Amino acid sequence: MKTIGLIGGLSWESSAEYYRLINEEVHRRLGENHSAKLVMVSLDFHEVEILQRQDRWAEAAAIMVDAARRVEQGGAECLVICSNTMHRMAEDVAAAVSIPLLHIADATAAAVNAAGSKRLGLLGTRFTMEQEFYKGMLTDHYGLEIMIPDESDRAKLHAIIFDELVVGDLRPASRQAVLEMIERLVARGAEGIILGCTEIPLLVKPGDAAVPLFDTTALHASAAVDWALAAE
Ligand code: GLU
Repeated sequence: MKTIGLIGGLSWESSAEYYRLINEEVHRRLGENHSAKLVMVSLDFHEVEILQRQDRWAEAAAIMVDAARRVEQGGAECLVICSNTMHRMAEDVAAAVSIPLLHIADATAAAVNAAGSKRLGLLGTRFTMEQEFYKGMLTDHYGLEIMIPDESDRAKLHAIIFDELVVGDLRPASRQAVLEMIERLVARGAEGIILGCTEIPLLVKPGDAAVPLFDTTALHASAAVDWALAAE
């Protein structure tokens, strides 16, 4: 088994899910009392969130590059960024280390393709929904058609993520609001929904809608285990 490297704290609520899912999956596949070999560098989300909000992406990238180097120095053999949004600087991070970066969009697209879906709704932070770094990869590399919620739903979802989910505040009203956003995307023709923020699956589960919901946290964690056990 190879050692998985995680950059977490983006937020820690979802890093804890990665940690649990990766260990559960290794145990499921290897049995006995096996668990994952991994290294995590966990950041202070408050510092990262200020840089995101103020559009200071170069400084955010510098923090991520430093974290990636520390993960590599800690003995990791691959790198997993536990956030969709922070894949905005995936190229800079990958270039700074000699271990491979396992991109969350690759893991997601593989599952979407396996399900045969082509038109997908994308839920995430404003950055993920509105900027090109994530959608562009899904459309250009994988030929998917990506739809995003309207402005008022995007604002509401961004606030739910940053005011509630990153601090583990799971509210029934917010869950209902996200389910209604999903229904509106389905009514516009979405065949499936990408839960493209690693905290959203804390609130909404794969069985909660009439169409497939692609849980990027679980898919990314599972891709990391595939990679770590590939030689076994
Ligand atoms: N974990 C989130 C994501 O997957 C949002 C937190 C962040 O901005 O990194 O995009």
